[in-house]
Amino acid sequence: MKKLIVNTEGCIGCGACVGIDPEHFDFNEEGLSHVISEENLDSSAIQDAIAACPVQVISLEEAQEEQNDNVISLEEAQEEQNDNVVSLEEAQEEQNDNVVSLEEEEEKAA
Ligand code: SF4
Repeated sequence: MKKLIVNTEGCIGCGACVGIDPEHFDFNEEGLSHVISEENLDSSAIQDAIAACPVQVISLEEAQEEQNDNVISLEEAQEEQNDNVVSLEEAQEEQNDNVVSLEEEEEKAA
């Protein structure tokens, strides 16, 4: 999910973003820009506002989604590890089968 951010501390209140994209930007009581809507973030007006900001304090970020992807990957990696544990158990069972076979053969020989 994208997130629209204005670093208000760096804003000089020129009004470019508010003029270009009033759907997403407005002045706060200090005359500085802030985000007023998180809807329709694919709008080209946002890109125009980002490009027009003279101090480049507007950004549209994807960070949150990437973090979640990494968490899922870690879980998947853990699942893979569990698969390996099962494989080891299966290997041990196979070994036990071999022991039984040897015993059976010994019985047969006797
Ligand atoms: S364009 Fe940039 S400096 Fe101008 S009001 Fe918007 S955020 Fe502030």
